[in-house]
Amino acid sequence: EYGTAPEDRSVALQWIANHGGLIGPYVNGAFAPARDDLTIRNHATGEKLAGMTLCTKDEVTEAVQSARAAQPDWQKAGGAARARVLYALARLMQKHARLLAVMESLDNGKPIRESRDIDIPLAIRHFYHHAGHAQLMPSALSDRVALGVCGQIIPWNFPLLMLAWKIAPALAMGNTVVLKPAEYTPMTAMIFADICSQAGVPPGVVNIVTGDGSTGAALVDATVDKIAFTGSTSVGRQIQEATAGSGKSLTLELGGKSPYIVFDDADIDSAVEGLVDAIWFNQGQVCCAGSRLLIHEAIADDFHNRLKARMDKLRIGDPLDKSIDVGAIVDPIQLQQIQALVQANTAGQTYHAQTPVPEGCFYPPTLITGLHPADTLMQEEIFGPVLVSTTFRTPAEAVEIANNSKYGLAATLWTENINLALEIAPKLVAGVVWVNATNLFDAAAGFGGTRESGFGREGGWEGLQAYSKPRQPLPEPAQVTP
Ligand code: NAD
Repeated sequence: EYGTAPEDRSVALQWIANHGGLIGPYVNGAFAPARDDLTIRNHATGEKLAGMTLCTKDEVTEAVQSARAAQPDWQKAGGAARARVLYALARLMQKHARLLAVMESLDNGKPIRESRDIDIPLAIRHFYHHAGHAQLMPSALSDRVALGVCGQIIPWNFPLLMLAWKIAPALAMGNTVVLKPAEYTPMTAMIFADICSQAGVPPGVVNIVTGDGSTGAALVDATVDKIAFTGSTSVGRQIQEATAGSGKSLTLELGGKSPYIVFDDADIDSAVEGLVDAIWFNQGQVCCAGSRLLIHEAIADDFHNRLKARMDKLRIGDPLDKSIDVGAIVDPIQLQQIQALVQANTAGQTYHAQTPVPEGCFYPPTLITGLHPADTLMQEEIFGPVLVSTTFRTPAEAVEIANNSKYGLAATLWTENINLALEIAPKLVAGVVWVNATNLFDAAAGFGGTRESGFGREGGWEGLQAYSKPRQPLPEPAQVTP
């Protein structure tokens, strides 16, 4: 129960003040002197939180060299030694969970209830899970070895969780990393850097470079063995082109426009509640958001009416208020993109939640009904709190509309008929299908997409494989002459 107390906020602001109001790269186990190149803001209020270094190509090279120098010993240390460090990281993240949650809400704008109950616990769970894997790893006999140095680039929507998805499996397998957080939301990555020093992570094993797309591009070009990227499809495409033929491993976790299918026999109240979570969790800035409602035409009017009544009850406001359901949009540029996409749309009927919306970087929960499956808003990712809706008549038509997308990240279906669920789920083109549920994440289960949602899996056994390669076969034994 925290987040509302003024002292929570002041603890986070004190952490920033202790770093001189400036954050910058963490390389070879220490923070390098930082510069005020970019400004990090709390967009719920507009206040400046910190200045941040825009790392240059040379600074990225230095971080990669530090990771390169540290990698052989980290690999040789063996699984049990790496597990000790990963467990220590998990425990220290638990100890600092309050600071991490408040900081996550400050620069990202997400409701404190979400960072406190979802982002931070899931990130910690990821470290425990991979510590367990490392502990069970045979060192000498393992048939897989680390890739080497991994460049990791993450988006702003789940800053610490995306960091955990990237760093935990990489370290477990014996890789060292250079990670670049998104330019809007670097703060929890900086606290994590502090935690690395406290947890006994050897210098050079974890390096963090701050900056924008230019820093990310420099990391892609650097002499790394793998790039793991989560972000937009357009940047993913650039990275794929830049790494083609370079021999670097690549995983891409990109955008989505995930269908949320409600059949006419569904438990409507549960499906409405699930939808609130699917599209208004984190202001809809979720790669696997259930952003495309496909509703059986027989129940469409009733469903839309109940949904609108529920939307009107959502509370929008200060992310640090624990009674808030919908926080701030991450940045004014992102807000403008949401507004532009909705305003350019001439199809369907637009409904904004009848709930007070504070001045500033906020956008009301929005529902657009009566769209055609081919309409722009049914096809393009909005990455904001905007749900679009169309109707279907038969299960076959629902599948056809659901799969009529360039993306394939997640899908949800609601029905009380288990036979229908089992028939439809395998037909949906998606990395994960949730039945009568949504947004279920588990460190033990691989997450990822297909089509323009990317490739590769994070989490689970598949996620570990993506940070390792088969050990070179031993040379043939010399012929023994009898
Ligand atoms: P983005 O692609 O603009 O930025 C992501 C990261 O890439 C940032 O750190 C950014 O600085 C960096 N970057 C930008 N240009 C780069 C370049 N040319 N080379 C290297 N790095 C570069 O995306 P965003 O707006 O931060 O994030 C939103 C997108 O991420 C959405 O499309 C969302 O669906 C997607 N996303 C996907 C997943 C998933 O698991 N599939 C998870 C979260 C977000």
